[in-house]
Amino acid sequence: TGGAGFIGSHLAEALLQSGHSVTVIDDLSTGRFENIAHLTGSANFEFAIETISDRIVMDRLVSRCDLIYHLAAAVGVKLIVQDPVHTIETNVTGTNMVLKTALRYRKKVLIASTSEAYGKGVRFPFSEEDDVLLGATSRQRWAYAASKMVDEFLAFAYYRQYELPVVIFRLFNTIGPRQTGSYGMVVPGFVQQALAGEPVTVYGDGNQSRCFCDVADVVRALVALAEHRDAEGQLFNIGSMEEVTILELARKVIDLSGSGSQITFIPYEEAYGPGFEDMRRRVPDTSKIYETIAWAPRLSLDDSLKRLIDFYKTDS
Ligand code: UDP
Repeated sequence: TGGAGFIGSHLAEALLQSGHSVTVIDDLSTGRFENIAHLTGSANFEFAIETISDRIVMDRLVSRCDLIYHLAAAVGVKLIVQDPVHTIETNVTGTNMVLKTALRYRKKVLIASTSEAYGKGVRFPFSEEDDVLLGATSRQRWAYAASKMVDEFLAFAYYRQYELPVVIFRLFNTIGPRQTGSYGMVVPGFVQQALAGEPVTVYGDGNQSRCFCDVADVVRALVALAEHRDAEGQLFNIGSMEEVTILELARKVIDLSGSGSQITFIPYEEAYGPGFEDMRRRVPDTSKIYETIAWAPRLSLDDSLKRLIDFYKTDS
């Protein structure tokens, strides 16, 4: 599900390359058909442009597959703040449909969750068994985290109550070709601004930090998680531990793309509207996934940014 999105399309491509058959269901709300257009020539590839809430289509597709990667969700902080009703509905009812249908045919499900589910965090780095600290429900941003937490609870419930094989993964900031800046994601936004020679827009003071993991590394983790029986019934962080402030990131992008762009600072209120709470730091503890499936990222932030800059240079 969500196979026409940024991460889903890379996963579909990798699975096809290793000889699997892949069917994508995507309603193209944030996914793009052009992300999978190059796969449509393959005899092992099928797609359905449909919402995952469609019971009949889901039943047909799930009955025929061996394994489900559930990646369809409302994405991006900007979209979530703009369209909170859609976010909550998509994330909760969509995952409910996926799990219900998977149970009907007893198919294994890998469920995408998010580092947002740690909320503001109670300690660093964020580890799977940590408590969760979310902001008040009057602050829209946390609706995304809360809806994804419902998905996680539901997946664990299916595992415990019905022994449905599930694996849940919390994705931290992921970057790579085909990610669009249209939903507020910082890296594609910065790269496009830098390549166009436009001001690179740092929100707040730029001292907030993130860790960015290349989509190629994320896809490797997703493939391995499906193959390891030990991963079933568990939750895993997937991300890089290489921390960078957003201001450092802006400088890196300008530097690596050889751009003459200036950096401009934009107050949070102006970027996201009033009452927005940003995360000052977000760093995953990835020891659990390393111990379970021996996964760690291979690409550094610089390598990944260089790949991305080349992609946007040839894409535009
Ligand atoms: N950000 C920024 N300029 C932009 C877009 C985002 O400074 O043009 C900041 C944003 O406020 C946040 C960080 O970059 O502190 C990462 O934002 P993104 O939306 O990519 O991911 P998330 O906030 O979900 O980690």
